[in-house]
Amino acid sequence: MAEPFHTATGVVDSRRVLLLEVLDADGFTAWSECVAESLPTYSPETVDTCWFALSKWIVPIVLDARFESAAEVHDALDQRVRGNRMARAAIEMSAWALESSHRGIPLAALLVEGSGTARNLTIAPRQFVETGIALGIHETPESLADRATKEASAGYRRVKLKVSPARDVEFVRAVRSALGPDIPLTVDANCSYDDADAGHIVALRNLDELGLSMIEQPLAYDDLVHHANLQRLLATPVCLDESITGTASVEQMLVLGSARIVNLKPGRVGGFRESLSIHDLCADSSIPVWCGGMLETGIGRAYNVALASLPGFTEPGDLSPSSRYWQRDIVVQPWTMDSTGRVRVPLDRPGIGVDVDEALVDDITVRRAVFTAK
Ligand code: MG
Repeated sequence: MAEPFHTATGVVDSRRVLLLEVLDADGFTAWSECVAESLPTYSPETVDTCWFALSKWIVPIVLDARFESAAEVHDALDQRVRGNRMARAAIEMSAWALESSHRGIPLAALLVEGSGTARNLTIAPRQFVETGIALGIHETPESLADRATKEASAGYRRVKLKVSPARDVEFVRAVRSALGPDIPLTVDANCSYDDADAGHIVALRNLDELGLSMIEQPLAYDDLVHHANLQRLLATPVCLDESITGTASVEQMLVLGSARIVNLKPGRVGGFRESLSIHDLCADSSIPVWCGGMLETGIGRAYNVALASLPGFTEPGDLSPSSRYWQRDIVVQPWTMDSTGRVRVPLDRPGIGVDVDEALVDDITVRRAVFTAK
């Protein structure tokens, strides 16, 4: 990675990445990326559990099956594999890329067709998506404020700060006073607060006074009830990330009032069919959605950019250019951002819109498995 990334759950300075290259019977290929990380600190899934789940259960289900459309893959997997959503998503999303190549249309256009909301509004995908930057935890409020100022002037549309108890109010206040009141500012706690701790509640309520657009996932990764109680105490919208594992958790969130914004990561919810269902439900419920990041390479980013081009994505995503995360990305056309914080959606070609640097991927591959249809 270009620099270490420090969150409430630890420091990441290199990334193990699980990639798939999927070939169909007609000779079309699609690369996709499993977003699971090395350790089960964000999600119960890891690179190794996904490798196992894909090899043992998921790849065999799709390998000899015939699908008329990418939208069918979700149910085929969902009927036979519970959980393991990141592993399922890696295959499921590649099917959408394959279909877009088959039909000669960009992936973003195929997703518009798959979304009831976008299709009904006869909306085309956006040509550009707005991006914000996520800044890791820094040593001092001053160094964080300096970094935030630099990134805001580079064009980012929103600054998100990773926070944890004791590295929160003072840090956020320093950034707010450096950036001024106008730039959207958010925090992401990655589950590090406990609503039984009075000090944590005081800190969260103090954050409430700093004009944040949202407070992301303050409480436990599998919680909706405590978040609902917390949302009632705060004026700032709570945004859920880890707690949203599918449409069912959004339905529960809406009933309970656990949050007012959703961070939608297709890898976390099992792929694009489920993402489109969440997108449509949130659009119908006036819940803003934005696309979070999982320190993806340029391959995973292509899928995120396509999804974020849908109309329900009304907040800037974590869609930073390749250079933010990687010394060298594994795609031939690294993702870039213009001076107004926009990333171009590749609408000029079918598929994911970027070519994989296969020589580089070969170079850095440490383990490989090939699965062949009967
Ligand atoms: Mg998050």
